[in-house]
Amino acid sequence: KEPLFAAHNMGHVQQVWQALNDPDVVTMVQCAPAVRVGLAEDFGMESGELVAGKMITALRKLGFDKVYDTNFTADLTIMEEGSELIKRIQENGVLPMFTSCCPAWVKYVEQEHYDLQANLSSCKSPQQMAGALFKTYGAQVDKIDPKKIVSVSVMPCTAKKFEAARPEMKASGFQDVDLVLTTRELANLIKYAGIDFKHLEAGKPDSVLGNYTGAGHIFGVTGGVMEAALRTGYELITGKPIDDVNILEVRHSQGVKRATIQVGDLTIKTVVVAGLANVEPVLEQIKNGTADFQFVEVMACPQGCISGGGQPKVLLETERTDVYAKRMDSMYKHDEELPLRKSHENPEVAKLYKDFLGKPLGHKSHELLHTHYVRRG
Ligand code: SF4
Repeated sequence: KEPLFAAHNMGHVQQVWQALNDPDVVTMVQCAPAVRVGLAEDFGMESGELVAGKMITALRKLGFDKVYDTNFTADLTIMEEGSELIKRIQENGVLPMFTSCCPAWVKYVEQEHYDLQANLSSCKSPQQMAGALFKTYGAQVDKIDPKKIVSVSVMPCTAKKFEAARPEMKASGFQDVDLVLTTRELANLIKYAGIDFKHLEAGKPDSVLGNYTGAGHIFGVTGGVMEAALRTGYELITGKPIDDVNILEVRHSQGVKRATIQVGDLTIKTVVVAGLANVEPVLEQIKNGTADFQFVEVMACPQGCISGGGQPKVLLETERTDVYAKRMDSMYKHDEELPLRKSHENPEVAKLYKDFLGKPLGHKSHELLHTHYVRRG
């Protein structure tokens, strides 16, 4: 069976396989939101078909000991990032604040616009928040020696491999995320293991780091982080339920979307950028003092993570728009069918704060869930 690894010599695939077959380690895995609307395509299924449950069953059949979810820490990111935005607005902090969950965007700021690094939210991405929690909270709950944990993530791009390897991502006392597979690499691994993916029953993620809301799920599409943050921000600021959780102004696939949202007495102006090619005019506005917005979401890929470079390939350019549209529709459909659609309503997130973290932006959150940035040449 060696040729599979030789043909896909991406480094981490073979190491994941070895970890899965090593009885002395405990493997914990997380999958990004976009993976579950892309994976089906590599098994000849419909474009955009949601396979969240089959994906979980496949991961268990591969031998992962704990199947957790990046969507859970997407909800957690909203708690931290939303609180950070409110704090910056109330205390005259650096604005506009940039989202920080796309590592390609973060690296772009570090490399090309380091003078704006203070605008980046200090929140780690959901991948890195999960990694830091696997070997601390997760290890504590399951009474596992964190030294034995191999933390694996499945992501829509290789920028996530770069992010996981950043030297500062060791908040747990170990490398927080050890190995990163792309969606295509996971598909190859499932095929290599002889798993009949198409006919799998739907599985459920493990508690205590696997439950998620619709808000956490839509992180995988452009505008999703913004929408999730506004759903929670509105309720935290006003103390009232939001009239409509579907914030259509920040959806759709244009390169730049601007919206003004009334949150109680606050008027929040937002910008959502999809594709790094579209970000320069927005940054120029900040530098020349004409920016009147407070919150900017940037995703390096043209439709957000659903169109990431590690997702199943759409070879014909003529089909790309259609496939991306189906993946996007699938994201919103899953959001609508979930019983909870606001991150602050996730009961496992509430339990995490109660039992372990304390409160958003608290001491422990600061240690495990926030980071800093470096100037790059
Ligand atoms: Fe990766 Fe693209 Fe998502 Fe950024 S937007 S995290 S580069 S898939």
